[in-house]
Amino acid sequence: MFGNRFPKRLGSLVFPACCPFCKQQMIPSETSAEFHDSLDCCDGCCRRLLGNQLDRCVKCGASTLASNPFDDRCRLCFGVDLRFDRCVAIGDYRGLLQEIVVQMKRTHDEILAIRLGRLLAGQIERFEVGNNCDLVVPVPTHWLRKLKRGFHGASVIADGISQISSIRKSDDLVYCLKNTKKQGTLMNTGRFANVRGAFGVKPKARIADQNILVVDDVMTSGATASEVAKTLLRAGASNVCVAVAARGARVS
Ligand SMILES: [Zn+2]
Ligand SMILES: [Zn+2]
Repeated sequence: MFGNRFPKRLGSLVFPACCPFCKQQMIPSETSAEFHDSLDCCDGCCRRLLGNQLDRCVKCGASTLASNPFDDRCRLCFGVDLRFDRCVAIGDYRGLLQEIVVQMKRTHDEILAIRLGRLLAGQIERFEVGNNCDLVVPVPTHWLRKLKRGFHGASVIADGISQISSIRKSDDLVYCLKNTKKQGTLMNTGRFANVRGAFGVKPKARIADQNILVVDDVMTSGATASEVAKTLLRAGASNVCVAVAARGARVS
């Protein structure tokens, strides 16, 4: 999946680059070569971003903080009717990853969004979630919200995934039918009701038997990603997985 990195790495020896996150000069190392290629950040920031990648929930991608001793599914998603097959994330929505996502959304930083997508492509490959998909589909935003913001983070993150994986992205396959309330303002149960029936699939879209990867910036309850998955499955998709830059996990 990752191409020949030699010319770029040779260049970085001659003109050492600065880490985009901590602004320290980067010294390329073999240990994090694949992350340098996908994110172009220093070893320290790679470690802070990726943290402990072991033992994540098989369904929703939450960290071991939410593990459930009685089931493969964690306490966050156990018993919740999530319609996607699996979810993969770069990591939890906290620390450096949270700072990057917040900065991307606040400043509409497309370069950061692309970097997140490229790093996420590495996670998709590593965890084998959505790595065999036919199509990458960003969670759509309502046209009014898009017009107001002029930036659609999920779509640019999906571009980053496509750059690395060569999987085609479709921005208009799924569309948003209603301008829903912001999910962050609602409790968990309200979030599922808020997005119910909110999405549609483009008429005559040929997605029968297709494996689709739905992409978003942050997933918290999973309600939005699940509703998009439900919409795609009803329209004939074979399988839907989800990839998010960060997994928001509120563990009490
Ligand atoms: Zn750094
Ligand atoms: Zn879970």
